[in-house]
Amino acid sequence: MPAFIALLRQIFHHPWMLAIMAALASAALLLSASIGIALQQMKQSESEQMNAQGERFLERLEQVFGQLREGVDLLQAQPVRGCSPAMLTALQQVSLGSRFIYEAAYVDGDIACSSRGDERAFEPLRAPDIQGPTYSYWLNTTTEPNENLAALMLGRGKFVVSTSRGHLTDVVDLPPGGSLVVVLDNGTRAIPVLGPPQVWPPPSAWSASHKSLLELSDRLIYRMPTKSPDYQLVLIAPRAKLPLKMNGMLWLLFPGSLLAACCIGWLVLQLILQKRSMSSELQNALRRGELQVLYQPIFELDTRRCVGAEALVRWRRPDGTLTSPDLFIPLAENTGQIRQITDFVLQRVLEQLGQLLRSHPNLYISVNLAACDVMVPRIGRVAARLLALHKVAASQIAFEVTERGLIDVVVARDNLQALRAVGHQVLIDDFGTGYSSLAYLQTLPVDCLKIDKAFIDALGHDAASSGVAPHIIRMAHDLHLRVIAEGIECEDQAVLLSSEGVHYGQGWLFARPLNARQFAELVARGHQTGSAM
Ligand code: C2E
Ligand code: CA
Ligand code: CA
Repeated sequence: MPAFIALLRQIFHHPWMLAIMAALASAALLLSASIGIALQQMKQSESEQMNAQGERFLERLEQVFGQLREGVDLLQAQPVRGCSPAMLTALQQVSLGSRFIYEAAYVDGDIACSSRGDERAFEPLRAPDIQGPTYSYWLNTTTEPNENLAALMLGRGKFVVSTSRGHLTDVVDLPPGGSLVVVLDNGTRAIPVLGPPQVWPPPSAWSASHKSLLELSDRLIYRMPTKSPDYQLVLIAPRAKLPLKMNGMLWLLFPGSLLAACCIGWLVLQLILQKRSMSSELQNALRRGELQVLYQPIFELDTRRCVGAEALVRWRRPDGTLTSPDLFIPLAENTGQIRQITDFVLQRVLEQLGQLLRSHPNLYISVNLAACDVMVPRIGRVAARLLALHKVAASQIAFEVTERGLIDVVVARDNLQALRAVGHQVLIDDFGTGYSSLAYLQTLPVDCLKIDKAFIDALGHDAASSGVAPHIIRMAHDLHLRVIAEGIECEDQAVLLSSEGVHYGQGWLFARPLNARQFAELVARGHQTGSAM
């Protein structure tokens, strides 16, 4: 087990190994997805072909049965009976007069004569497969593969007419092993009209109400609509040999998927390398002192008096460009460098503002914590050491934690409780963007909620989220928590929030993040909008 963990660790520390794994995983995924799609398409085209064949076949059957019925009706209506030359003439007239009648015959006990002379003997005639009130039907009168031999026979009285197999096979291209069967006796008996006998009934339940196409693993069964409930016409075709048919398509899919997988692997490698280089750049930035802390003042909304500030980190590169914390904080959280950043911010706050905080005991600075800061008691010890060094009260440093940062609420609760026990305030940041509920909040040792800018933006608009801020405010009041509104950009928002009972706010309306000197000046003046950074 330790060897396996060591191997895993080794893999994850080599970007090219990770890239190969990503490429292999995506190749497997892409290939199986494309094979799946190809199979699906094949199944669909099989079903479509079956439907088309079925429709063509049904049309032909209607024509054939129409003519057979007409022929046998004509013979029944004429007065001649018995095997006389007049009968032969009548039989031949009917046979020649219709395209689909291959043979017409008169059968009365031992006496039998046919339009084809002596070529065909009808004796002994077996009992009909279907006995209707007027007509009798014989199916599969021969299974010999002779296109001229009868496949269907229709009888009325002592007359029978038949159609040849060829009239049925010329419209359907039955695949090898396929059959046309007539299903009788409530689906229990199947007689093949064309093609070999089939295993019947199918393994899954067969009922007249069944959808027209039944797809089994080895064959497709297509049920054609018939007017009579007594019998059903069914076309059965073995399924195409999928692996063989797929070959052509796979040759296209293989190189395509491999190419895409290589691209993904390359992208992963680039991303890892870029992340690595950014994380080593960040390390250098920390060492060279390229990180700075700005302070965004927090105001009492009614009096517009500054009560504190939020410490916000900035990365000013040597060329003067600023990298947003939104870019490097998530990276630092992944690499663990965030601990160094949090310590740096705390240290910088006390170094820059220690004097100001000592002279204004009611002023506070709030510091953002990441998930890993909340999961261990370390930050409390760091703060205690720095506060003692700068002789600042713990109540003047607040900590902001986001809902996302509370991965393990039980552990976080103990650490937050320890921070509060020594006098720090605890704020829940970006409130409303996570899964927080009233019940969850009640269990957390917090002093204040910060409402996310998104909900402040929605205030006064018709958007569905416009009601979120008032809801959070009511919730906070019920729990006796203070509320700070974040991202206030216009006067209307400040007035509305104030009327809703929110006492504190920060945002560009009052001041953008300021450097330590600007913030100290603002505090000295009492209240004033600071200059933009
Ligand atoms: P956040 O904690 O929610 O900080 C508030 C962000 O909203 C800040 O962006 C602030 O400049 C911006 N903001 C304040 N008022 C307004 C306004 O009226 N309009 C607009 N459009 N924006 C406003 P910033 O400084 O870019 O920080 C972004 C995020 O980076 C912070 O969100 C926080 O999650 C993180 N962050 C910043 N500094 C630190 C830090 O020292 N430690 C940690 N762990 N995270 C930090
Ligand atoms: Ca914050
Ligand atoms: Ca926030």
